[in-house]
Amino acid sequence: MFILDRILQKQGFILADGATGTNYFQLGLETGYPPELWSLEKPEHVSGLHQRFIEAGSDVILTNTFGGTSHRLKLHQAEDQVRALNIAAARLARECADNYHAATGREIAVAGSMGPTGELFTPLGMLTHDAAVAAFTEQAEALAEGGVDMLWIETISAFEEVFAALEAAKKTGLPVAATMTFDTAGKSMMGVDPADFAKQISEKGVVAVGANCGIGPAELMHSVTAMHPADGVMRIAKGNCGIPEYVEGKIHYHGTPELMATYAVLARDAGVQIIGGCCGTSPDHIRAMRQALDQATDGDRPAVDAARLESELGKPWKNIPEQSSSTSAASNQRRRRRKS
Ligand SMILES: [Zn+2]
Repeated sequence: MFILDRILQKQGFILADGATGTNYFQLGLETGYPPELWSLEKPEHVSGLHQRFIEAGSDVILTNTFGGTSHRLKLHQAEDQVRALNIAAARLARECADNYHAATGREIAVAGSMGPTGELFTPLGMLTHDAAVAAFTEQAEALAEGGVDMLWIETISAFEEVFAALEAAKKTGLPVAATMTFDTAGKSMMGVDPADFAKQISEKGVVAVGANCGIGPAELMHSVTAMHPADGVMRIAKGNCGIPEYVEGKIHYHGTPELMATYAVLARDAGVQIIGGCCGTSPDHIRAMRQALDQATDGDRPAVDAARLESELGKPWKNIPEQSSSTSAASNQRRRRRKS
């Protein structure tokens, strides 16, 4: 039986982890420096954050490989280290998960993170399907070699890119999950609709599909509740810790542990199996989510509908610009966020 099925059967939900970048900043990561290099340069910090998420209650940890394709690493002249960095990151996460399991008996799944290349596909940009598949294959094979339980494609905006990543990930034979970021009036930057994404991707043989990052928990839940994947495919909600805001030139996430706990219980009540945090989510937030999920017994709360979502998380897409044109979607994609 697949590890996520065992965890779900045992406790009724699966808690993923929180942010990588945001938490590394507190350990001294400089803005613009690629966090993936820390798997070789500062492995104690990479393992330390995994450890803190596991102790806070995460059942799944994502490897420090979000920007681990050659396209992202070449921006830092590290494209020749794709294999070494992905293997190293997978081994660090694997070791943390295995040590914890041996000490406590609680199983932890290791998911190999695969983020976007940062390139636009033809005809908007230069990236071809074959080149993208080749880059993702190099990463996926190294993650598999390092011992991950599954591959986890995340923060994607374009169908072409998720299809290429999925094709590469499936070549390893490992189970694959895929999430997109819906941050533009209910759609991804490149105009993908969440319901359409869930339908098309779940038909291609993934174990889980969902949404991550983007705006705040209200928008994330609006996107995830629109998804109706094929039978047997789990849904993932991995939302940012509140709405990101610029404060004194730095991105700040205003979400409290209480807000993230409310969001986690709502997600569970909505039938979402895998719940976690994205940018801004610390181990303290994950701990609050764990406590709330552990205490949330079935049947004593109202059904999850638009009214309950709005009363507990706020109105989605409030103060968010309406649908952007395809040209601004393309320029947004060029300026795209790093996972932080
Ligand atoms: Zn994020």
